[in-house]
Amino acid sequence: MTNVNEIFASKVFDDKVMRARLPEKIYNSLRQTIDQGQALGADIADQVAKAMCQWAVENGATHFTHWFQPLTGITAEKHDSFINPAPDGRIIMEFSGKELIKGEPDASSFPSGGLRATFEARGYTAWDPSSYAFIKDNTLCIPTAFCSYGGEALDKKTPLLRSMDALSKQALRILRLFGNTEVKRVITNVGPEQEYFLVDREMYLKRRDLIYTGRTLFGAKPPKGQELDDHYFGAIKPRVQAFMEDLNEELWKLGILAKTEHNEVAPAQHELAPIYSTTNVATDHNQLTMEIMKKVARKHGLVCLLHEKPFAGVNGSGKHNNWSMSTDTGSNLLSPGDTPFENAQFLLFLVAVIKAVDDYQDLLRLAVATAGNDHRLGANEAPPAVVSIFLGDELQTVLDAIETDSPYAGKEKTRIKLGVDILPRFARDTTDRNRTSPFAFTGNKFEFRMVGSSDSIACTNIMINSAVAESLKQFADRLEGAEDFSTQLHELIKETIIAHKRIIFNGNGYDDAWIEQATKERGLLNLKTTADALPRLLEKKNMDMLIAQGVFTEAELRSRYEIQLENYVRTVRIEAMTMLEMARREILPAVMGYASSLAEGLYRKKAAGPAVTCKADVKLIDKLSDLADGIDSAEDILESAVAALDMISDITAASENVRDRLIPAMQSLRELCDQAETLTARSFWPFPTYGDLLFGV
Ligand code: ADP
Ligand code: MG
Repeated sequence: MTNVNEIFASKVFDDKVMRARLPEKIYNSLRQTIDQGQALGADIADQVAKAMCQWAVENGATHFTHWFQPLTGITAEKHDSFINPAPDGRIIMEFSGKELIKGEPDASSFPSGGLRATFEARGYTAWDPSSYAFIKDNTLCIPTAFCSYGGEALDKKTPLLRSMDALSKQALRILRLFGNTEVKRVITNVGPEQEYFLVDREMYLKRRDLIYTGRTLFGAKPPKGQELDDHYFGAIKPRVQAFMEDLNEELWKLGILAKTEHNEVAPAQHELAPIYSTTNVATDHNQLTMEIMKKVARKHGLVCLLHEKPFAGVNGSGKHNNWSMSTDTGSNLLSPGDTPFENAQFLLFLVAVIKAVDDYQDLLRLAVATAGNDHRLGANEAPPAVVSIFLGDELQTVLDAIETDSPYAGKEKTRIKLGVDILPRFARDTTDRNRTSPFAFTGNKFEFRMVGSSDSIACTNIMINSAVAESLKQFADRLEGAEDFSTQLHELIKETIIAHKRIIFNGNGYDDAWIEQATKERGLLNLKTTADALPRLLEKKNMDMLIAQGVFTEAELRSRYEIQLENYVRTVRIEAMTMLEMARREILPAVMGYASSLAEGLYRKKAAGPAVTCKADVKLIDKLSDLADGIDSAEDILESAVAALDMISDITAASENVRDRLIPAMQSLRELCDQAETLTARSFWPFPTYGDLLFGV
């Protein structure tokens, strides 16, 4: 048995190690930097670097890297060794403060959406001391932000840190109004629940679609899917169990609080949830978790699929972003308190979130917009593309009572007077948990369920933090000048409920009638695809808010728009090219090969004499030939759709072309190929089927 206590965070240069290895003065100063986001002095950086290097070398590291999150996808690192020549011709292992604080990855091929002209192509990376350094594969990894020389953010961490600052600043203004003078910083916390699939590596290697795109582009439904619900929370198979144990151990070493693991709804689907932490750290940890899942899977002869929709017709994978705000003194601002005053404060923070989600529904939607996630949102398994909030009955009753100035049933028919009454503690139970809601209040946190499984949670939390900061700013502006605080507070909460209650929906989010009501009666947005959602980033109200909160500059927003749309177009184009290759070189030859072997058999039967009946042979040959013809022309149509896309240089127009022409052409080709699969003898089919993949582990 592993001694968890011994291995936990054994590869992390964390508080315990810092305290033990740094002179007290240096430690205290670093601690201030970490806790209050202050700048780190050069002399301190030198001492920290020295201790860090010594610790890393003792723990087997030979290299260091500035570990960062460019706008492409996962994480990036460029390794440098600690080795420096010593005067005596030997070497010393060394690492300076300058190297710790700043690196120059010369990473000119990362997308910048035009932010860096080539003459100043280099970006630089800067240590984020609020996320601990760690050792991975004999390399000391230093979590860093990645910026251009002009100071524009080229990564996901920089705006995330800015959004956390923005929220803290505004939340503090509110807390001061409630007489709180102790709190120095408000922190946002996240616990991301990560879903994934495991498939057998041998089978995976036989499918080019999985290799190139991470999802299956073809595949008929197997006779058994998830209809029996026999996988959800079912017993974990030994091979998967071994993987999970190994994974936990690797994550624990990195100080990641991997806590729960279980089977998910779809066969071969699983989930891992960590204990929540500060948004910034949770984001880094989630990136690491995804990377390590893939690595550990490989050791077990498995492949971990993080794509949002690896299999059509089977549940996809998401990431539930459990989000809350708390003070540096440890109190959760989304938890109703023990005194009437705390309750009023809770309600104010609550309606701030409601207002934020209503005002910036489009930002939340576009934060999770990717080609992969488009398959999930609204597909009767994940929340719809329409953003709404679930509050639950208890809380809804409270808000109703405030809105209408009417008696609140739960409180012996008394009216709620904010600042006077105590609210009930809302049960954190799972019974009436609405799994169909995109944004659900779950007792003391909100769970945002639209995030895709492969996505970085940074984008989502940047938007939530910024939007809530904006609500709080508006509230503080109004309340700071109030003559009678309690009355103004009551009015403000009531007005906010009235203005934004359209975003609250406690019913079934998967119901078509809801989408109808949401869009027609409530005027909520239904941004179905990435091509629909992303242009909203450049809407004036959104740009104004994100710029005013100091989270993005206009140039950064424009560059992000380009990069995210480009990513959408490129991803789908790769899928289209992969489909063409598989259809032409594998599927069509298989279908035609099977048809001609049937024809040969038919020919021999016919030669045996006129008495032999060949009805089935003829029927099947006919069907297969028709399908082959259909596949052939669908390939041509898809090919010309790709050619047409390649002629378009404007990225917005290209994304619309992908949505309106390329994706439909891909769907047509797929349908025919999937039909052909159900008619072609197994021995002729060129790659593992859905049944093989989903039930093969
Ligand atoms: P479930 O959603 O499966 O019922 P939990 O509600 O216990 O499970 O937790 C789901 C995730 O939410 C976990 O990652 C957990 O750490 C996280 N979480 C719990 N409390 C908070 C909080 N106050 N803020 C942010 N995340 C939280
Ligand atoms: Mg959950």
